[in-house]
Amino acid sequence: MHYDFAIVGAGYAGSVLAERLASQAGKTVLVIDKRPHIAGNAYDYYNQDGILIHLYGPHIFHTNSPEVFSYLSQFTQWRPYEHRVLAQVEGKLLPIPINLDTVNKLYGFNFTEEELADYFKTIGEPVAQIRTSEDVVISQVGRDLYEKFFQGYTRKQWGLDPSELDKSVTSRIPTRTNRDDRYFGDQYQFMPLEGFTKMFENMLKHPNIHLMLSTDFQEVKETLSYDQLIFTGPVDEYFDHCYGKLPYRSLHFVHQTEDVEQYQPVAVVNYPLDHEYTRVTEYKHLTGQEHPKTSITFEYPRAEGDPYYPIPKPENAELYRKYKQLADSTPNVHFAGRLGTYRYYNMDQVVAQALTLYKKLVGADSLEDVVNGDSPAAK
Ligand code: FAD
Ligand code: UDP
Repeated sequence: MHYDFAIVGAGYAGSVLAERLASQAGKTVLVIDKRPHIAGNAYDYYNQDGILIHLYGPHIFHTNSPEVFSYLSQFTQWRPYEHRVLAQVEGKLLPIPINLDTVNKLYGFNFTEEELADYFKTIGEPVAQIRTSEDVVISQVGRDLYEKFFQGYTRKQWGLDPSELDKSVTSRIPTRTNRDDRYFGDQYQFMPLEGFTKMFENMLKHPNIHLMLSTDFQEVKETLSYDQLIFTGPVDEYFDHCYGKLPYRSLHFVHQTEDVEQYQPVAVVNYPLDHEYTRVTEYKHLTGQEHPKTSITFEYPRAEGDPYYPIPKPENAELYRKYKQLADSTPNVHFAGRLGTYRYYNMDQVVAQALTLYKKLVGADSLEDVVNGDSPAAK
């Protein structure tokens, strides 16, 4: 069969574009994924013990974009959930992002907010130009807190010292002087009520969308017939690594079920200094599921394996720029998503990027029109 669009990848980027193109623009769409399931890295499922877990590590939805929230709300109801993380440092479980309680409990101080702000001014090291992930943290909270909370974690997670990584990586984590212990500060913080996979099922449930799972695009591309291609896999793979491989960081997940109702006090505990794993996730905190047992996941970072994280550092950005030029000059092929555009994007950013590409494809005026179905192609 001939399709208007072939889309490689059934994650956020691919599924949002498939949904809009099919339901709003009346296009026929073939969605291909090499994995046996939809939802990309956000895939969740009930394990053998009947506990809802995330196969590729903890996914928490948060955004400041009303358009993204309103778009996804067409496919799921939500469970309010504010994410909290503790870091184990010197035998204590302390709030991360660093806040008033983190500092007071770590050092045995009794600071007020104002006193902590003054303290940060005295311990923060002046950095002329903030370029790296070390600069970001050192300039705000000084060397001791940097070493205890960031340096070891980052070396494990990326196999690189923070001084080798772009500032954008540790800038994801704020520093606070108050007692706010939420991991994210976004306006909308929710989990999909019935899980991420269910939300994706609702997005892809359209007669114009044909799904082809467990299929590698590279192996079937010669047999497919379509007008335009949207590729959300690794951009360097699409071009046969012609300029060399773009580096990605991978993870090895160890999932296990424990015969206790609760394993740890919050959904995620980070281990910046101890162990080879970076963090442990207990899903029942995220999902609100009640169950006599509990499921947890350990994350072991590694170089080889599925590409989960683009690695933000200057040489990689330079190499990506070459692929981007090639991508821009390839007719009828569009690149989207975390791997397709080599960006360390959260789920909401990928949704926004996909809606923006759709807007361009159909010539809509605004994202609001795209979300509300008021784009030209929908009329
Ligand atoms: P993906 O979900 O990676 O989808 C790409 C799909 O393309 C994959 O399913 C892949 O199998 C398929 N594919 C690739 N190549 C081919 C090929 N040749 N043929 C066929 N199919 C192919 N974001 C948040 O907002 N909050 C979080 O808490 C959060 N936690 C995260 C935790 C971890 C451990 C990781 C790794 C990421 C996390 N993210 C989180 C980021 C989130 O996973 C991504 O932003 C989002 O899933 C990216 O969607 P995507 O469609 O770009 O890519
Ligand atoms: N980070 C850290 N210590 C922590 C939490 C985060 O050093 O306790 C750094 C680390 O470099 C990490 C980055 O901040 O990769 C971003 O953290 P985030 O939790 O956003 O990572 P993700 O959930 O994307 O893996």
